[in-house]
Amino acid sequence: MARYSGPVCKLCRREGEKLFLKGSRCLSPKCSFERRSYPPGQHGRDAQFRRGRASDYSLQLREKQKARRIYGVLERQFRRYFREALKRPGRTGSNLLAILETRLDNAVFRLGLAESRAHARQLVSHGHFSINGRRTDVPSYLLSPGDEITVREGSRKRPYFRELRQVLENRPPAPEWLSLDANELKGTVLRYPERSDIDLTINDQLIVEYYSR
Ligand code: SF4
Repeated sequence: MARYSGPVCKLCRREGEKLFLKGSRCLSPKCSFERRSYPPGQHGRDAQFRRGRASDYSLQLREKQKARRIYGVLERQFRRYFREALKRPGRTGSNLLAILETRLDNAVFRLGLAESRAHARQLVSHGHFSINGRRTDVPSYLLSPGDEITVREGSRKRPYFRELRQVLENRPPAPEWLSLDANELKGTVLRYPERSDIDLTINDQLIVEYYSR
């Protein structure tokens, strides 16, 4: 399963904002973006001052890249999601974000069972979760309303999951389209996420324009 494996903090600096890709580190003074908020590369600092008015294409491209990087999806997969979003009724941009949100790795992160989407992806690939009682190790698995995500019996004994119940008390609550049973380490998909459930500052219309060129 392909994934980006380069330096993660560079992605935030490239997009010019914090994308919160590294869990608790993002909220600490160790965050690279706090120390170097200019684009990466030899001329990154100069580029910060030289930038003129961005073209429409550049704005659309950056928005698409930002969304891709937040959800940790490569270009081919992202384009596939866009094609799927086009087929669904309603606004394509909202459909696209709803598809991204219902990825298993994202739902595990949103439930608070992982520090970041990358961490959730790792936990899922290592086979710690089951969906409706069946072991699933595919981070891109798309969830549907009624699906139950459970930490597998064998994994509950691991120190990470043993301590998780306490950690969950300090994590933000699950979004309204999900429900979490912290004692059972179990999440349920209540419905498909709507645009208002997604707290990201992504301009999904620009992504639609990018792929509609
Ligand atoms: Fe981005 Fe987090 Fe790295 Fe800061 S620590 S630059 S928010 S990934």
